Amino acid sequence: MKQAWFFLILLFFALIYTTQPVDAASQATVQTDSLNVREEPTREAPVLHTVKAQQSFPVVEEKFGWVKIQLTNGSTGWVAGYLVSTNQSAQTDAPSNQGSIATTGTAAVVTATQLRVRSTPSTEGDILGALFAGEKITVLGEQNGWSQVNYKGHNAYVSSNFLQENGAQPAAIGTAPVTTQPVVDTVATQSYVTSSVEGARVRSAPTTNSSIMLQLNTGDRLPFLRAEGDWFAVETPQKQVGYIANWISRTDSSSESPANVPAPPANRSGGIQGKTIVIDAGHGGRDPGAIGKGSTYEKTVALRTSLMLADRLSSLGANVVLTRSNDTYLTLRERVQISEANAADAFLSLHYDGSDNSLATGVGSFYFDSRGKALAATILPSLSSHTTMTNRGIKEANYHVLRENAQPAVLVELGFMTTPTDEQKIVTASYQANAVAGIVDGLAAYFGE
Ligand SMILES: [Zn+2]
Repeated sequence: MKQAWFFLILLFFALIYTTQPVDAASQATVQTDSLNVREEPTREAPVLHTVKAQQSFPVVEEKFGWVKIQLTNGSTGWVAGYLVSTNQSAQTDAPSNQGSIATTGTAAVVTATQLRVRSTPSTEGDILGALFAGEKITVLGEQNGWSQVNYKGHNAYVSSNFLQENGAQPAAIGTAPVTTQPVVDTVATQSYVTSSVEGARVRSAPTTNSSIMLQLNTGDRLPFLRAEGDWFAVETPQKQVGYIANWISRTDSSSESPANVPAPPANRSGGIQGKTIVIDAGHGGRDPGAIGKGSTYEKTVALRTSLMLADRLSSLGANVVLTRSNDTYLTLRERVQISEANAADAFLSLHYDGSDNSLATGVGSFYFDSRGKALAATILPSLSSHTTMTNRGIKEANYHVLRENAQPAVLVELGFMTTPTDEQKIVTASYQANAVAGIVDGLAAYFGE
């Protein structure tokens, strides 16, 4: 008898807890005709249910760009975060006392590959984490080019340049209606991915060994969802997610043309400490760069120098970001996006030269605009003197990583891979250390030390 009572009480509590929505005010609304609800937050997981456009469900949990929802029958499952809109009003912090910050929420989507989340509206703010392309957030206010967001329960800020507004959300409960400043001046419009080739394959995953969903003829286009590495995620006519390689297609998405984005602030004074410096080791992965007569790969030495430079600059208090820290392939556009998403105070692309002339020797630096020119002009003399290599001069160059970069950018050539006498020097630890010392001294001069 006692046992029966125990089970009744247990059942009572179980009912209370299972029938209550976890967070009644946080709702996910389906933004596509038909959406799969999966067992786990991954596209490979089994489909449990399908939900329809404009249906709303309580949000239980969010992770990896997936949202766990509770269905009307009480069961739960995961849906892709970019295919639902979430109303996070109940999770936002109490209204801020800062009068300049509006407290209504505006839905926005991250357009940068990686966007830093900071504790204050400045590049000096502590880095709390990062948001990634396609992630949906609620912007609570805007000031001086920074958007206030709720990040893991805290007030935080991201650069407004890398957000695309998605339409207004209802005001948070209990706050007076306040006019929100426009987050970005671009209008959210549907972007498309257009096939550049005949028979372009749309695949089920962003890899060439995944299954083929359909093929496109030259000029055929599909709605653009987001960029994933070298692939564009698109929506197929069957409302599924497909992937097209970016080397056989193009997109008109605004997030893919960073040159049109206003430059985030870059700082030149006060020394290296606290500066954000993006170091871009040239080439990588399937792209070896120049290959020396002694079989040295440019990508390998450029990475070694980049890692040493990163160490040195970090020890001087710089906030260093590497575009790659291992032997991986990155597109030029991805390198630029990393520079911009981090609001780099300086972007340095490190290379070793190649030439048909086996007597070519020396170091050089390249720029595209006036800010890059200042960087190139301060780094090169110092680099040349530390390495005792010929100064080949600074030159204007129409390189993608310089031209498309909204941040001050320089490309440095640290000697000729293809000239045996240069190659023998380049591969030594002492040469690498001297090159790093030369670049660091040049950067210190650039930042007014
Ligand atoms: Zn190179």
